[in-house]
Amino acid sequence: MYTSCQPCGMCDAVIQQAGLGRVVFALSNEQLLDIRPGSGRPAVPQDGPALLDEVREVVAPYYG
Ligand SMILES: [Zn+2]
Repeated sequence: MYTSCQPCGMCDAVIQQAGLGRVVFALSNEQLLDIRPGSGRPAVPQDGPALLDEVREVVAPYYG
């Protein structure tokens, strides 16, 4: 698969599930951040990982 930008974590999971053998991307995530215009809004703070044990119980069976 050829893409303009490096697949994010969600896209990467779907690419694996689809059984694709290779991805070629033009821009890395870091390169995209360098050229992407800002939104003018402040960045949203992200905190985590949090509640690892609790979420593992819910998520692990999906991949199990
Ligand atoms: Zn994505």
